[in-house]
Amino acid sequence: MEESIPEKIAQVRQRINAATRRAGRPASAVRLMAVTKTVDDRRILEAAHAGVDILGENYVQEARRKIDLMGRPAEWHHIGHLQTNKVKYAVKLFDMIHAIDRIEVAEELDKRCAQDGRIMKVLIEVNVGGESTKQGIDPENVLPFCRQMSRLDFLSVQGLMTMAPWFDDPEAARPYFSLLRTLRDRIREVHIPRITMTELSMGMSGDFEVAVEEGATIVRIGHAIFGARPPRKEM
Ligand SMILES: *Cc1c(COP(=O)(O)O)cnc(C)c1O
Repeated sequence: MEESIPEKIAQVRQRINAATRRAGRPASAVRLMAVTKTVDDRRILEAAHAGVDILGENYVQEARRKIDLMGRPAEWHHIGHLQTNKVKYAVKLFDMIHAIDRIEVAEELDKRCAQDGRIMKVLIEVNVGGESTKQGIDPENVLPFCRQMSRLDFLSVQGLMTMAPWFDDPEAARPYFSLLRTLRDRIREVHIPRITMTELSMGMSGDFEVAVEEGATIVRIGHAIFGARPPRKEM
């Protein structure tokens, strides 16, 4: 029989904790995000109440509907591609936005946050594998991008996010996670205003243990908690 959602979450937590031990990191250094795309509301609530730290949503309108319905049993983070015309809603909904990949969207977000009088925590998405199918800033451009972001008073850049290339063997993703950590550490040493650089959002169902060993502070887990998703239409 299929395990329940609380059982699956407990298993994922155990695997995270084991990976932190192997890496000599405290278990509290990693926050668990449940990725809710295509999951029905009842199952999302079950996960929220089973103690995930964060609910991750790809679609702004869906987040609005879900937050109206469920409130905030955990933090809500936006993951995936953010369209400029959705920014004005995103400002009111999310505790953090994970995938800033162009200065235009950051500028719009900064403008809207100024109007709302709030600071938004954001991460910069990095295309660690240089894949043409993926969004994100190329690794060599992340530092100059951070300098551009630094003049946006209402954004606080907390770290970096990536989706590693997909491999059958999660070990193969290790150099990409390690690259993201190295980039973060290097930028942190530069001490740019408003660029905090503590978070690493990396690791999904197939590769999160390796990501945690390499320093992930947020893992984004979908199907290892909720089971297989229906085939996707468009993002
Ligand atoms: C869907 C998604 C995930 C989770 O994927 P799983 O492989 O199901 O764990 C993580 N991050 C982003 C940006 C996603 O879109």
